[in-house]
Amino acid sequence: MTGAQTAVPAMTGGCLCGAVRYKLTTPPKGIGACHCGMCRKFSGGIELGIEVPAEGVEFIADDSLRIFSSSDWAERGFCSICGSSLFWRLTAPGPMHGLFSLSAGSLDSLEGLALTQEVYIDMKPAGYALAGEHKRLTEADIMAMVAAAEKGETQ
Ligand SMILES: [Zn+2]
Ligand SMILES: [Zn+2]
Repeated sequence: MTGAQTAVPAMTGGCLCGAVRYKLTTPPKGIGACHCGMCRKFSGGIELGIEVPAEGVEFIADDSLRIFSSSDWAERGFCSICGSSLFWRLTAPGPMHGLFSLSAGSLDSLEGLALTQEVYIDMKPAGYALAGEHKRLTEADIMAMVAAAEKGETQ
């Protein structure tokens, strides 16, 4: 690779112990951060996720993958051996059904990927903040987007 080329994000990832492995069928575009209380518990900090459509992830090894239904509309995947947080997945019906937010840290490399947005910014503890210019959405912003989508104003 020469210096003129842009770094290409990794197309593979998995958990800390390697028992769960996946590959992406489309390159990730950016990293989103979620500050909601559930993501904080699940990830152990700030959840950094890569949005991938339902058919965008192919699991190569998943014997130790366990799923936890975290709400009426989403579930979370983790490795039952090493405990790595692997994804959030939308279970609610609709055009976005099956959408993944893969834990960014599970990718083999984050080379070339930048933070593009923060969600539930109003739930972020005051003691830390992510630097840089990117979108910052509050819970009210997100609920307005969901309501608009349900009315068919988008998608
Ligand atoms: Zn593992
Ligand atoms: Zn969250």
